[in-house]
Amino acid sequence: MNRWGEKRYHSLDYDLKQNYGEKVYKITLDGGMTCPNRDGKVGRGGCIFCSASGSGDFAGSRALSITEQIARGKKELNGKRPVHSYIAYFQAFTNTYAPVERLKKLYMEAIQDEEVKILSIATRPDCLGDDVLELLGAVNRINPVWVELGLQTIHPATAAFIRRGYELPVFEKAVKDLRKLGITVIVHTILFLPGETKAQMLKTLDYLNHMDIQGIKLQLLHILKGTDLAEEYKKRPFLVPDMQEYIEFLGTCISRLNPQITIHRLTGDGPSDLLIAPLWTSQKRTVLNTLHRYLKEQDIWQGKEYHE
Ligand code: SF4
Repeated sequence: MNRWGEKRYHSLDYDLKQNYGEKVYKITLDGGMTCPNRDGKVGRGGCIFCSASGSGDFAGSRALSITEQIARGKKELNGKRPVHSYIAYFQAFTNTYAPVERLKKLYMEAIQDEEVKILSIATRPDCLGDDVLELLGAVNRINPVWVELGLQTIHPATAAFIRRGYELPVFEKAVKDLRKLGITVIVHTILFLPGETKAQMLKTLDYLNHMDIQGIKLQLLHILKGTDLAEEYKKRPFLVPDMQEYIEFLGTCISRLNPQITIHRLTGDGPSDLLIAPLWTSQKRTVLNTLHRYLKEQDIWQGKEYHE
């Protein structure tokens, strides 16, 4: 198996090396946004799993400008190795939820750095109005733009439980609108949400297999301090997989996944000071090494069980 270099799946690293000839590093930014699922426009309290930093626990400081955050990110990365190419990743909160003039200023500031090769924007599918789409299309003509949509699951009961705050057709429209503009779409999913069976998780994957998306994040549910999910877990502890169970299930997911879709994440690394469970995920290297060994032993590769 050497279709994707040394890995048995279509990894982001592989794609970036193919397209840019070298490893491209992510600088995680905080553009000072909020979220309609927190400020009352869609809901209050946010998604049940979302931390106080709006799922941007590793993002730069919002007290700094984008230029300063990029400079700081570069300094940290360059201290360990020579780096020439970056992804400017707006991660914290909802990064298309602001007046379009403000968004334009933030995005343009990020891409004015010549070493920023890609602008990556995490957002909600219900925050992509016509003016925002027009802006994203214009920026995409200057620098490649990726938009990451937080879907998590296709199942309405789970979506209600996690307080996602939008229905599936909203996601489908967002994907179509972004693809019309030639924008790369990445979908964030969460595995082992409370109450979901493995068959349901695979159904979400099968659904995405047939959508026009280019990337996927498979994030294991993390229970973080200070979230409503942590309260729920305390009151009614639910199943959290151990490493072996998770690796075996990931093997099934990888095997089912459309080989055209790039995998951007396979586990997730919650900040150790906030992580309540599963604690084994903080050993990210061990998890990935164990997964790679498992895929080899079981002769699994991405798309082995995928049928068009
Ligand atoms: S949409 Fe994103 S930022 Fe908003 S509450 Fe949910 S996870 Fe947090």
